[in-house]
Amino acid sequence: MTVPRQALIAAAVALCTAGGAIGATLMRGPAEVRETFYLFGTLVEIEARGAPERVAREAIARVGQRLQAAHKDWHAWRPGELESLNAALAAGESRKVEAGLAALLREGRALSCASGGLFDPAIGRLIEAWGFHADVPPDGAPPPAAAIAALVARHPRMTDLTITGDEVRSDNPAVQLDLGAFAKGAALDLAAEDLRAAGVQDAVLNAGGGVKVIGRHGARPWRVAIRDPFQWGVVAAVSLRPGEALHTSGNYERYFDEGGVRFSHIIDPRSGRPMQGIVSVSVLDPSGARADAAATALAVAGPVEWPQVAAAMGVRAVLMITDDGSILATQAMHERLEPVPGGFPAPVRIVALPEATPPPACSNG
Ligand code: ADP
Ligand code: MG
Repeated sequence: MTVPRQALIAAAVALCTAGGAIGATLMRGPAEVRETFYLFGTLVEIEARGAPERVAREAIARVGQRLQAAHKDWHAWRPGELESLNAALAAGESRKVEAGLAALLREGRALSCASGGLFDPAIGRLIEAWGFHADVPPDGAPPPAAAIAALVARHPRMTDLTITGDEVRSDNPAVQLDLGAFAKGAALDLAAEDLRAAGVQDAVLNAGGGVKVIGRHGARPWRVAIRDPFQWGVVAAVSLRPGEALHTSGNYERYFDEGGVRFSHIIDPRSGRPMQGIVSVSVLDPSGARADAAATALAVAGPVEWPQVAAAMGVRAVLMITDDGSILATQAMHERLEPVPGGFPAPVRIVALPEATPPPACSNG
């Protein structure tokens, strides 16, 4: 299946520009402040309202610095704290990391465990082998199957990590951390907390495929659109409740095509190969880190297995678009979808979620 060229540059989530019609003009209040940063391989836009302009500007500037630092510290293939940690883990050594990174790794390990290992930031070597440790998508042939099989056979997993205070070690030297599947979500959560602590009561943080909000957009909620990955359109709009995040993962932003096959940057840790069958997954949750991790995990799980994985990760509101253009949604997501002019691009099929299952016991400190 090919996706139209123009969809390739479309972020999966876009801010709706007004309370209703897509494309209408945003009414700008006097105390609205907006800044854009280039981070995590994407534009991060922060808009604050309802705070004195000076307070909002200073708060956003500080948040920008914090996001810059996170970008550097958590980068999967450039010099920084994570790269140093990866070198230590590969050498079988333990290493002390900054408290924020230790907390992020704990969260990542718990989310990975809940996902049954479908979201697993320990598979950095596989992601690198497929050529995705670069700013531009790879062009060329897939890596040799034997090289991938050898990496999979070493079973790198987040549950190989032991985190004692701020000290991290791995029982398995094949672990190489790549936080790309949930770092953006986690960073937007932290940034939102910082903005709130600085006195900003209403804000939206938007970073290519991920949105997190604080408060409301004046008298109405912050409203975002889920883009239609097949064309220049919108699947639906969603009004976000204060504190909520919406994250989308898909196969149409970072990928390469070879021999008529699309190779996505989302890798199935079980096969070591890019996931198949899914064009995009959107997850709505109060935690951006969880929504981001779950969007990746459910893309790996695929069109049949995903409800179990969603339940295990504790997410209820999910929208999935499959290769054949089918739109699947949980009841909790369906209730939140607001049709846009022209309606849904395809009928939305509601998929029941099993009861939330208790997370498996796979933590080791
Ligand atoms: P985006 O970066 O477009 O928001 P994702 O949140 O799905 O998309 O993250 C994809 C990134 O996550 C990949 O570029 C890679 O760095 C990493 N990754 C790929 N597959 C997995 C996986 N199964 N588990 C954890 N991380 C993954
Ligand atoms: Mg993700």
